[in-house]
This record gives sequence, structure tokens and C-alpha cells, in this order.
Amino acid sequence: MSKSYSSTIVNPEDLIDPNPEPSTVANRHLKVKFAPTNSFHKQLKRRVNQHFIANDRSPKDSASLYQKTAVIMTWFIVSWTLLVFAAQTWWQAGFLCISLALAMGGIGFSIQHDGNHKAYSDRSWINQVTGFSADLMGVSSYFWNLHHTLLHHSYTNVCGVDLDIDLGVLARYAPQQERRWFHRFQHLYLPVLYCLLLINWHVYRDFNDFVQASIGDYKIPRPKGKDLVLFVAGKIGFFALAFGIPLCFHPVWQVMVGYGVTSAIVGLLLSIVFQTAHCMPQAKFVDIPEEAQALEDNWAVHQLETTVNFAPNNRLLSWYVGGLNYQVEHHLFPGISHVHYPELATIVRKTCEEYGVVYNVLPTFRDAIAAHFQWLKLMGNEA
Ligand SMILES: [Zn+2]
Repeated sequence: MSKSYSSTIVNPEDLIDPNPEPSTVANRHLKVKFAPTNSFHKQLKRRVNQHFIANDRSPKDSASLYQKTAVIMTWFIVSWTLLVFAAQTWWQAGFLCISLALAMGGIGFSIQHDGNHKAYSDRSWINQVTGFSADLMGVSSYFWNLHHTLLHHSYTNVCGVDLDIDLGVLARYAPQQERRWFHRFQHLYLPVLYCLLLINWHVYRDFNDFVQASIGDYKIPRPKGKDLVLFVAGKIGFFALAFGIPLCFHPVWQVMVGYGVTSAIVGLLLSIVFQTAHCMPQAKFVDIPEEAQALEDNWAVHQLETTVNFAPNNRLLSWYVGGLNYQVEHHLFPGISHVHYPELATIVRKTCEEYGVVYNVLPTFRDAIAAHFQWLKLMGNEA
């Protein structure tokens, strides 16, 4: 019996609403249109669908991801428990902060990311539960979905829409952004700001999004009903884990140092892995097109031109970063669980070669980090 997995392969392209509600989206959003889809994208989707049928495998609900979730959550719980209740010396606390930070990074890369992309399971409550792990790390899954799943994934590297490449005056990631004199030092100070990423999300971004009911220029609906309950529960849960319970057993300064060190490591990890996918010399950056004009490329080709893979042969790294070294496949098929990206990479690469579409990949993680900093230097020094 033939079957199709195409209904479970969700593209952000499908999320782009041709008639969005004016109350939920600002005007600028309406102007960004892609060129019509072409035979390349249709062929790619057909082949990926065929791959799952031929192997009788589902794009979601992979046993290996459930096992991985158990490993990472155990790692997180053991690290947090030992840090709060058992650490006696500064070096034990330091070691456990690093361990806790790595476990939190693992949750961010492998569990919440699949859950919030609805790529974890065909059952929506499982996606909701795994997506909620972001809230327990102090990041609202409700607002993360709007920033990441909607704006970043739909309009990757479109200046003024993709807020992942917009740090305001603090950084120049794209040639279209204005250069200021201090950007020549951005390759030196941005790693410090990367360390502050998570702390900013914890204490400012989610609350600001909530109060303003907007993300940048975009009007967004405030969470209501179940979303509001989960937002509040996530904040209470996170602040209890990070401050409430530890403060019952340790002095304030120790809790603050532990929180600062752990959050800085997680922020640096998340920033480096996400920025090496797009803020790179190999990636294309585009402006918002003039009114009524579409972008030069269709959505799929645009994703390939703006995204870079790295270290495809590093299995340990692939495991830890939740397949995000295969960002090309993630951007083309964000509704498919990351455990399948290595197999999809062969299909995507071959199809790109056939159709003459670019496929960006760097051999190692070190190459990707070096290229990112090379790009920061270039953007900081060239007009
Ligand atoms: Zn994503």
C-alpha cells in the first residue's frame, strides 16, 4: 500500500500566510514575497518523501530521539541536583556548572528545537511537552517560536525581518547594515555579547515581547489561555530552579556566580552553533524587496543560498548539536526530526548538483568558527 509522509513534512513556506491578519502582523512583513516554487523544490520534496516510504520510516517519533531525550534530561537533572545539594568546593561547583551548561545546551539543540518545530512527534502533546523544555531553561517557547520558527526560518538572512542577524547597532552581520567605527572590533567583543545571550532572554527579551506585544516592528498576539498558563508556569519553574531553590541552601553571591557562569556557557554555545550557519562569507544576505516585488529566488533556493553546513562527518558533534551542523537540511525540512538529517543530506546534495543550486558545507566545526570570525572582521572593516 502506498503512503505519503508529505503531510507531516512541514515547511515554513507553508506557514507564510498569503492573507495575514493585519492585527497580528506589521506591514513590512506583507512585502516580503518569494519567487514561485520551481521543479527543483518539488523534486526535492518528492525524493525525501520517497526516502521515508522506501525505508518504511516515519520522519518523526524516532526511537533514537526518545533515548537521546532520556540521556540529556538525566544529565541535566543529575548535574543540577549535585550542584545544588552536593557540591562542597569551588572546583566541584565549577565542574558541575560546566556540566549543567552542556546539558542545557543539549536540551536547547536536540529536545526543545525538535518539539517547537513540531518535528519531534506526530502527536501534538509530545511536541508541546518537549517544546516546553525551553521554558524550563528560562526561554519562553511561545516567543521563541515567533522569533525562530516564523521570522528566522521563513525569512532567513532577509535584513530587517530575520532578527537573528540583527543586533541593532551592536553588530554588523550583513553588508546591507550600516557600518559604525566600533564594528572593526566586533570580532573581539561579540563573543562577550554571545555569553550574555541567554541572560538577556531570561531577564529582558521575553518580558519585553510580552509587554510590547511586538517583536521588533512586528505586532504579535500576547499569549492567551493555555499559552499564557504555560508562559507563567515556565517562568515560575525556571526561576525556582535557577534561584528559588538554590537560595535556600547557598549565599546569594554563590547562586549568582553559578547562574552567571552556567548561562554564559550556554549563551556562547547557542550563539556559535546558530551563527555559524548563517553569518558566514558563504551565505547570501538580502534586503526587503521593494513594494510588490518578490525576492529573486524561491523559498527553497533562498534557504540554500543563506545557510551553511559544517562538520558533516563528526558524529559526536552531530549528536550533541541536534543535527544543527546540517542546517541546510534543517532549513529545508524543519518539520522532520533532526536524527534524519545525515541521510537527507545525501539526497539534498545530489539534487542541488543536478539542478545547479548552491550547497554550502565546511569540513569541520573549527573551519566554520574561523569563517564566522573572518566574516565579522570583513563586515567590521569594509563599507
Ligand atoms: Zn530551527
